[in-house]
Amino acid sequence: MTVRTRVAPSPTGDPHVGTAYIALFNYCFAKQHGGEFILRIEDTDQARSSRESEQAIYDSLKWLGLNWDEGPDCGGDRGPYRQSERSEIYQQYAKQLIDEGKAFYCFATAEELEEMRKAQMAEGLQPKYDGRGLKLTAEEIAANLAEGKPYVIRMKVPESGSFKFTDYLRGEVEIPWEQVDMQVLMKADGLPTYFLANVVDDHLMGITHVFRGEEWLNSAPKLLKLYEDLGWEAPELGHMPLLRNPDKSKLSKRKNPTSVNYYRKMGFMPEALLNYLGRMGWSMPDEREKFSLDEMIANFDMKRVSLGGPVFDVEKLKWLNGLWIREELSDEQLVERLVEWAYNKETLLSILEQAKPRMETFSDLAPLAGHFVSGLPEYDPELLTTGKLDVEQVRPLLQMFIWQLEEQRSWDKDTVFGVAKQLSGHLELKIRDFLEPIFVAITGKTSSTSVVDAMVVLGSDLTRARLRVALGHIGVSKKQAKSLDKAYKAYKASI
Ligand code: GLU
Repeated sequence: MTVRTRVAPSPTGDPHVGTAYIALFNYCFAKQHGGEFILRIEDTDQARSSRESEQAIYDSLKWLGLNWDEGPDCGGDRGPYRQSERSEIYQQYAKQLIDEGKAFYCFATAEELEEMRKAQMAEGLQPKYDGRGLKLTAEEIAANLAEGKPYVIRMKVPESGSFKFTDYLRGEVEIPWEQVDMQVLMKADGLPTYFLANVVDDHLMGITHVFRGEEWLNSAPKLLKLYEDLGWEAPELGHMPLLRNPDKSKLSKRKNPTSVNYYRKMGFMPEALLNYLGRMGWSMPDEREKFSLDEMIANFDMKRVSLGGPVFDVEKLKWLNGLWIREELSDEQLVERLVEWAYNKETLLSILEQAKPRMETFSDLAPLAGHFVSGLPEYDPELLTTGKLDVEQVRPLLQMFIWQLEEQRSWDKDTVFGVAKQLSGHLELKIRDFLEPIFVAITGKTSSTSVVDAMVVLGSDLTRARLRVALGHIGVSKKQAKSLDKAYKAYKASI
């Protein structure tokens, strides 16, 4: 048997370090067994998926050196590897499940289901789908279908007893069926949910081992039951511990940068980031902290993953990166890395566009353009409010600007300025005043080159990171966070 593992990210938003982490462990497991590692794009959520985000996944995994043997970009024998191109396959299996009485149609409208939930809650019950679709007669179903009523397809699950399975990392796990809902497999738009698509694909793509995040553990009974219902042998499942913030909460971009692009832009070495991710829940037999991907593969043992939530601590990562720079790169190699990173012609040309009009001597470049090649600039936080606006104005401005930028799929001058202009209008601020604290957050100064151009050159990840640091200086209490959330929703509804 050839070991085949995969990583199956959904292309929504930034390429997450969690995706790189899961990819790394699946990659090591496959390579250690002389097997294959596959990249599948799970883009069935059409509203949230984008090609930009898919591209960012390719770029970030390649940058890290986690190359896949089969995938949407390079093909393979078991494609297509993008779920949006596999609709007919899923429909065929959904139909099979219906025909064999293992899944059923449900024609309930969103309003009806909402009423059902409310009624259950009023009785003090946990809201749960009540199996109403199962009560329809064959005639009623045929009539509804003939009428063209919208429907979803749900899977049947036992109502009592419990489901036991052996997790590759956790040993025996038991989950009562009572906790498992009659999962929707096909949505009203004819597209599958994660559950059906994931099972069908892992089977047809010959995946032998699935190591996925712990957040999927409670879904295991549904997935394994689907394999059974479809008459297939299931792959081995292992659920990896979730990465955590230093305060032990689930790693989130509110507390830590989570985009691989951020670490790239900050000037981390891909080898060091991989090394650090490799230490999340795993260690070398001799406990050495610094090791390469090849060394990790040579010593890899999936069974030694420890399940206590590993803490992703940027300070430790920085320390490790420093070791990599000093111990692994010759001066010549460091020069090459720096050039590749930002001191290259292309980046310098875009910086010069900003700096040249203000230069009198060559030596003006560094003070004028330092913020283009630095990570998070240091400045006196008071500067954020020395302009026209006070803290109460700067706080919502920064927070809403960050949220709005997070949602942008393209990153150019029109986009960034457009967001600033629209938000400043909404907050009834002059664009000049609006941009003042942003200027400080981005450049660390009160005067320098154009801030909008700087944001474009810096890119989305570093821009947002700097804005987040500024917001951190201003401070947001729990209560303020709640009202900002509300204000942002109102703003979104108004545009
Ligand atoms: N698309 C899912 C995710 O991004 C994949 C989970 C899995 O590996 O099955 O989390």
